[in-house]
Amino acid sequence: MTVRLRYAPSPTGHLHIGGARTALFNYLYAKRHGGTFILRIEDTDLGRNVERAAEEFAQNLRWLGIEWDEGFDQGGAFGPYTCTERLPIYQQYVSQLKASGHAYDCFCTEEELAEQAQLQSEAGEMPHYSGKCRHLTADERAALLAEGRVPTVRLRIPENRTVSFVDMIRGELSFDPNSSGGDFRIVKSNGIPVYNFAVVIDDHLMEITHVVRGEEHISNTPRQLHLYEAFGWTPPAFGHVSLILGPDGRKLSKRDESIIQFIEQYKDFGYLPEAVFNFLALLGWSPEGEQELLSQEAIVAQFSLERLSKSSAYFDPVKLAWMNGQYIKARSADDLLPLVEPYLAPYATTAPWSADAKWRRELVSLYQEQLASLSELPQVASAFLAPDVQWSSEAVACLENLSAQTVLEALSDVLDEQTEELTADRVKDMIKTVQTNSGQKGKDLFMPIRAAVTGELHGRDLNRTLALTGRTLVIQRLQAALAFVRQKG
Ligand code: GLU
Repeated sequence: MTVRLRYAPSPTGHLHIGGARTALFNYLYAKRHGGTFILRIEDTDLGRNVERAAEEFAQNLRWLGIEWDEGFDQGGAFGPYTCTERLPIYQQYVSQLKASGHAYDCFCTEEELAEQAQLQSEAGEMPHYSGKCRHLTADERAALLAEGRVPTVRLRIPENRTVSFVDMIRGELSFDPNSSGGDFRIVKSNGIPVYNFAVVIDDHLMEITHVVRGEEHISNTPRQLHLYEAFGWTPPAFGHVSLILGPDGRKLSKRDESIIQFIEQYKDFGYLPEAVFNFLALLGWSPEGEQELLSQEAIVAQFSLERLSKSSAYFDPVKLAWMNGQYIKARSADDLLPLVEPYLAPYATTAPWSADAKWRRELVSLYQEQLASLSELPQVASAFLAPDVQWSSEAVACLENLSAQTVLEALSDVLDEQTEELTADRVKDMIKTVQTNSGQKGKDLFMPIRAAVTGELHGRDLNRTLALTGRTLVIQRLQAALAFVRQKG
């Protein structure tokens, strides 16, 4: 049997990490088993649909490296793949259920239903549909229609039936018949089917074999199973993945800004898609070995639903930063350059030299080992992106040291003679000369130079740093530092 899986987002907002992870698990399972992965858009809740959300979902999924074989934007043999384009199909199946006696028109108004629920709660019962319209005669129906009432459609569900199914992740799950809410609506008064109805028709017609989705859908599954039964169809296998919790163990709120929750933001903040792919795969799934840095191919090769966890997954921002850093390190500077361009672009005026692509490439190469995200580059490399540097208090303290003046003067002399543009090798030779001429070595030699040129005592390789700063700026900063030191002295 070839497996067919789908991700079926409602286009009501941006792609959240929870949704992306669901998409990923379905995609991985399909790939692992040489099956088909489908992107379907569930837009039955018209009031909540957001324009262009579906396209944005698609873009972000593709950015992550998730591709589908059939989908709303590319078609396929089982299309269309957007619920609102499938309304005539649903209509046909609603008629079928009505004809077989499994579904009926309900004329109860919202007010009547609210009142009924209120009375049931007061009597200590679980709110449920009373079944009032279950047995209306044709005449009664006609009379209600003549009153101008617009019906909804409800599924007649067997009374006192415990529904159970074997969840691929959680094992056997059973549902108390009293908790079902009774006959449920399958078509709203606007004629649009509810999610629970559309999803069953679509999963069945699209020959979906496995449904992997978030645990918030567990309570929908019994209703969907009632529908499968009414139609006499075999349901797919269901697996409900656990929630993603914040590092503090609390449920994520979409407004919580302490962790990045939307895929769009990962892109904006300079995360690499392969890192986010890897990180999301490990949120609730664990590979067999200890290795956590895994390529897409390695994850596909190992993926199994048995290793999805029943318990909640904790989002660990430290691990994410580490993982992204590892992937940044592993890419070539040439590869990273186009990705960092947007972060460097705003500095074109304060650092006109950054117009040189070779210079930008060297900047990336110098810093890529220490970046947790690409957007950090301007901040960690600030000394390169403006003519002047701010000295940190440690840098000032270092410059105030007596030996600093000797070192800086010696460097200034060497630079007077060395008129060619700096390279890391030339800087190395120059610093050797400074060592000989100033009699300073080790920290006493390097620190004042770094403090004067970068404003900090620590940073990347000193020779490359000076070369990248360029002769003119190095001299300028050296003179500023010397002026400060002399005035102190
Ligand atoms: N449209 C649902 C959602 O966005 C998906 C439900 C399902 O996968 O069955 O959560």
